[in-house]
Amino acid sequence: MKIVITGGAGFIGSNLARTLTERREISQIRVIDNLSTGNKENIADLDVHLFEGDIQDAALLERAFHGVDAVVHLAALPSVPRSVKDPLASHHANATGTLQVLEVARRAGNPHVIAASSSSVYGANRCLPKHEGLATAPMSPYAVTKLATEAYLGAYHHSFGLPVLPFRFFNVYGPGQCADHPYAAVIPKWINATLNGRPLTVYGDGTQTRDFTYVGTVCQVLTDALLRRVVEPRPVNLAFGHRITLLSLISEIEAATGLRAFKEHTARRVGDVTHSQADESRLRALFPRITPAPLQEGLRATVNWLSRADEHATPAPAGSRNDAASNQHALF
Ligand code: NAD
Repeated sequence: MKIVITGGAGFIGSNLARTLTERREISQIRVIDNLSTGNKENIADLDVHLFEGDIQDAALLERAFHGVDAVVHLAALPSVPRSVKDPLASHHANATGTLQVLEVARRAGNPHVIAASSSSVYGANRCLPKHEGLATAPMSPYAVTKLATEAYLGAYHHSFGLPVLPFRFFNVYGPGQCADHPYAAVIPKWINATLNGRPLTVYGDGTQTRDFTYVGTVCQVLTDALLRRVVEPRPVNLAFGHRITLLSLISEIEAATGLRAFKEHTARRVGDVTHSQADESRLRALFPRITPAPLQEGLRATVNWLSRADEHATPAPAGSRNDAASNQHALF
């Protein structure tokens, strides 16, 4: 099988590329990435072909999609605060970019297209757990772009017969996730702070809950979807319904690092979703063989990776150094 990963130099994409290079069924991996938030170093040791450029460039996509069996579309500007600061940039990369990927895919003979949407589409809908039948209520431009992503996949399935599978990722964490930039996610940020004896900033009282999924588990699901060519035009939550408070997460980080964490509480942020938990029924029905990695195991792997900090001093994404807003509790 020949596979394209858009956003393959990013956190989830590079983990997926690594997982797929170990599968004998996969003969070729092509990565498309403009390196806006990703990093070439993430895939430097892998046998993959990098098409450096933007997913809005149809000619580049045509070259990369020639003769492929499947496309895993992960390229996006993955940040809520970034989308609030510059909604058009997020729209271009995430919504228009997805449309371009689908257009070129259908002209390239309808490869299987798997794409990343996000739990942020549930937004202001307070029902728990979040099942895919709930009304969506995006609270940020980013969430709108992700809703557009999954809606376009469904539309291309119905209009052009494109075999698609849109996933709603929840909070994904693990090795390869940047810890040291303003949009860093909570787990790498807090592990890094703990390892370096710095305080952990907690917005509010820390009783908010999140449903974290280890990146290795996400890659297992994506690999299974590719190899069994799972097609489902309706969105599928990619999380296992394991809700944990941020305070409990801190205790788990203390256990994984063997270090005491120092909390610094600050005001709750406007627009922060209080609780998040996936209903995993549709995921379990489609992927009955996948068992998620326990949080403790995933945290240990992440701590090991971040402990080798010098090797992983990842530069901040382009244009982000002066942005004050932090993504850390956000739903991506
Ligand atoms: P990431 O920033 O590490 O990876 C995104 C990659 O896409 C980067 O390598 C970046 O350079 C590339 N990219 C961005 N815009 C591009 C463009 N216009 N053309 C080509 N390449 C472009 O983020 P990630 O955490 O690996 O996220 C991957 C996907 O999963 C994204 O679509 C994101 O919205 C989605 N997602 C992630 C999470 C999470 O918890 N990490 C949660 C929900 C959804």
